[in-house]
Amino acid sequence: MEKEKKGKKIWKYLIIILLILLVISLIIGGYFLKLYLYPTVSFSLKGEEKYLLSYGDKYEEAGAEAKVNGKDYNNKIKIDDSKVKIDELGEYKINYSITLPNGKQENLERIIKVVDDIKPEIKLKGDNPIKISYGSTFTEPGYEVSDNYDESDTLKVEVTYDRTINTKESGTYQITYTVTDSNHNSNSIVREVIVSPRIVVINGITYVEGILIVNKKYSLPANYNPGENKEAANQLYLMRMEAAKYGYDLRYCSGFRSYNYQTNLYNNYVKKYGQAMTDTFSAKPGHSEHQTGLAFDIGAIDDNFGDTETGKWLAINAHKYGFIIRYPKGKQDVTGYKYEPWHVRYLGVELATKVYKSGLTLEEYLNI
Ligand SMILES: [Zn+2]
Repeated sequence: MEKEKKGKKIWKYLIIILLILLVISLIIGGYFLKLYLYPTVSFSLKGEEKYLLSYGDKYEEAGAEAKVNGKDYNNKIKIDDSKVKIDELGEYKINYSITLPNGKQENLERIIKVVDDIKPEIKLKGDNPIKISYGSTFTEPGYEVSDNYDESDTLKVEVTYDRTINTKESGTYQITYTVTDSNHNSNSIVREVIVSPRIVVINGITYVEGILIVNKKYSLPANYNPGENKEAANQLYLMRMEAAKYGYDLRYCSGFRSYNYQTNLYNNYVKKYGQAMTDTFSAKPGHSEHQTGLAFDIGAIDDNFGDTETGKWLAINAHKYGFIIRYPKGKQDVTGYKYEPWHVRYLGVELATKVYKSGLTLEEYLNI
């Protein structure tokens, strides 16, 4: 009896253990079967899915990444880029594929679009800006064009003028050159044409756009002896009166100087300082603005005058009376003279105001 009971129990246990083993092996087997039949796949492109490639540029393959059931599969990726033509505009496909252990294939695609998105180049022949003299004939010097895709004969060039260039009308004209390639990329450049002012010399006296000009380049004849200009002297008086109201003393230092007077003055300076030095602050006979009767030295003939309250008042108010500070700071290369905060030139209120507001020297303003 006892033995029989024991035997039955052992069988029972054995069956239970076998059942447990069976279940475990089914679970494990099922798991591996699932991995095989339905693997977990991650497969993706590196870089852009749609890649714009500028014509003429190299395509650099960014590749793809693959993992199957968590394992690296990168070295099994096949890349087919045989249809890509980077030397022709258009859309091309690159195929990326992997073959899974169950024989199935996974595919990805990248589109390469070869485009011409580069602007053509345009270079101007000749100067920019071009300076031409008043009344001369203007000939457009032309341009050169090139492009990454188009040959130069398929490039379109449009040349437009802001207004017709009339060399008998001084000023700045603009020519715009626009080049467009066959893929509608375009590029523009502007050329300035500066027609120099009308310069008229009457009896040895130079007028630029009607304004009497004396500087290192343009002189007055020895016999030009107009004396002090009445209008200028009157305006100077009004300005000095106005300054005096604020307590500023625009003392009269010098006005009209004749050719002979300037000759003596210049020669004396040369004796004292030598010619090179003299030429930075004193005019050669015939080249002094004082000979016009339109120039005055006021306040104080002192390099620091411009920093005094009086000098500052003069600098910002002179134009209201028709004067400009003729030799501004830092413009020696243009005017020929170092800074002279005391030297004013009469131009009339309208022109003086324009020159003052332009911030330019008279030479720059007149383009001479
Ligand atoms: Zn002076």
